[in-house]
Amino acid sequence: MRLLLLLLALPVSAETLETLSAFETVQVARGVHAFIGKQTESPLVSGNSVVIIGDDGVLVVDTGHFPSGTRRMIAQLRKLTPLPVRYVVNTHWHPDHNTGNSLYAEAFPQAVFISTTATREGIETEAPKYGPETLQQQLPALREAARTGKTRKGVQLSETQRATVTQFLAESDSALPDMLQSRHLAPSLTFEKELTVFLGKREVRILFLGRANTAGDAVVYVPDVKVLAAGDLVVHPVPYMYGSYMSEWAKTMDALLRLDAAVIVPGHGPLLRDKTYPLLVKRLLESLTTQAASLRNETLEDARKKLDVKALRDELTKGDAQLNRDFDSSVLEPGFARALREAKEGPLKDEN
Ligand SMILES: [Zn+2]
Repeated sequence: MRLLLLLLALPVSAETLETLSAFETVQVARGVHAFIGKQTESPLVSGNSVVIIGDDGVLVVDTGHFPSGTRRMIAQLRKLTPLPVRYVVNTHWHPDHNTGNSLYAEAFPQAVFISTTATREGIETEAPKYGPETLQQQLPALREAARTGKTRKGVQLSETQRATVTQFLAESDSALPDMLQSRHLAPSLTFEKELTVFLGKREVRILFLGRANTAGDAVVYVPDVKVLAAGDLVVHPVPYMYGSYMSEWAKTMDALLRLDAAVIVPGHGPLLRDKTYPLLVKRLLESLTTQAASLRNETLEDARKKLDVKALRDELTKGDAQLNRDFDSSVLEPGFARALREAKEGPLKDEN
């Protein structure tokens, strides 16, 4: 009986480490492969990774969030090519894209880690605040909240919030011991605007197109096969807008769309074989920032009531209930708040 009660209390959708770290290996073009992370509803996610094989070595874009997953990526990579990884690019500082760095450094000691200057700064200063050690410190308070149904400040949780916390705890318990196995490793080679790497004859261009989802997002472009690894400038099916530079991101998307890309590997989600989705993201950014500009004398609360992005939301989510919730929590909430802040204060300073 007690076991049954216990099982009933566990949300059915809590994911295990195995699912959270799962990925599919996809050939993107000749000599370019992607590890596409499995999409779940968990906040514990792993970004996509791209393997670019040249004549004399390999360049890897992003290294994943879960060390066990990164080890499997490295094993897959060794099946794809006997060549060593010579370069690793971190597209931005968010830990779901670079926690696996130290695993690559162990497997390929000669590899050089590259990012924009701002991303290196973010990996040094911001990433640890969201790393596994921080999560470990937060767990007792979360357990207490799940047990009592209240936060430490006495705020009552709704049943849905309590279930979400319980689910997150189950996922953390499954994934945290693995996440704690990585060692903090920031890039040692940085650039401001552009860095070109030659893997023998194969040219790989690493570009900073402007501030966007972070202050230092890099994209990686392989001209001979027209492949673009977009990092979290493009997250499918719903953009991720926490901490973003909204009006600049719209312009950065213009620069991204100007690149002659036949295939785009987004930071999360499946390969995109045309530019329909990034164009939609650009229109959404423009709509949010234009409306924020005209609502800049309103409070955030009042501005939210007058904001109208329903048509773009429907175009993006096609009415799917879960995607609508994702849209509200990762576009409307943080994205519009940032856009309004920009409209009120002018360009925001780098927060990585
Ligand atoms: Zn990400």
